[in-house]
Amino acid sequence: MRRYAKTFIPRQDCYPIQTEDGRYLTIKRRFQLDYLQAHLKGIMTLGAYALDEHSRARWLCLDADMPEQWGELLKMTKDLEQDGITAYLEPSRRGGHLWLFFSPIPGATARQFGQRLLGRYGLQGIELFPKQDVLKTGPGSLVRLPLGKHRLTGQRYYFVTPEGEPIAPSVREQVRLMSAPQIVPPDYIRHVSTERSPVDLSQVKPLFPEASHEPAGATLSERLKNSISVYDFVRRYVELDQNATGCCPFHEDQHKSFGVNREENFWHCWAGCGGGSIIDFWMKWRQLQGLDSSFTATIKSMADMLLPR
Ligand SMILES: [Zn+2]
Repeated sequence: MRRYAKTFIPRQDCYPIQTEDGRYLTIKRRFQLDYLQAHLKGIMTLGAYALDEHSRARWLCLDADMPEQWGELLKMTKDLEQDGITAYLEPSRRGGHLWLFFSPIPGATARQFGQRLLGRYGLQGIELFPKQDVLKTGPGSLVRLPLGKHRLTGQRYYFVTPEGEPIAPSVREQVRLMSAPQIVPPDYIRHVSTERSPVDLSQVKPLFPEASHEPAGATLSERLKNSISVYDFVRRYVELDQNATGCCPFHEDQHKSFGVNREENFWHCWAGCGGGSIIDFWMKWRQLQGLDSSFTATIKSMADMLLPR
């Protein structure tokens, strides 16, 4: 029990509980092992904060809420297995969680590792916990502590193999296994965090609807710019809010420094990453991916993505 708590719960000075409507409340009291007992019995449901008081993470959780995304996480698990890395799968109703465990590392390192893993597959829309690199106010993001009951649905979810079989037959046995999960070696974290993605994201999935007609323009770059708005292009790669702003993909950004001006059809980073057309965006994006980011290579890749063949 103590070791199960140690696996998932990074801080003990406060803890989150799930209320009957599915939300979480922070209880500013010391965590007790009795609560974990109650959690496993389904009497109460705890959350687990992703970072400790010093913004260190001992796990990374990728949260898929759609069946297709879950399929990608299964694939990722099998690929990691080939590298000798164990990921733990906890399916839920429509998607599920993929967990990876560490000896405590800075939250920023854990997140970078997670982002690189998602980048390998060109995965978008999968939430990454911890959500913060560093805690500023409050205990930050949390995930439902596994093997408890979801208050709203009354469901309990188990850890499974990539084939969908429970990793152990009972809650007690699952707790025992998850009390000493395989950790990702620091070397592997470094390796993934520094690797350049060989995958051109545009090649992974058809992100754009097939263009039905050749857009107007005298030059290839004009035709590209006329084929799609900056907003529609960029939002495939950057999560934008209703004001068309979001976190800049080109620098370590926690302040939503990035935005698209929809009227004037350009993007911009207020922190100094520049801005401009979809071509400027894609050049920088390719640079980030370690791909040829020359003008010629960039517009050729965009023509493949955006123009009818
Ligand atoms: Zn920026």
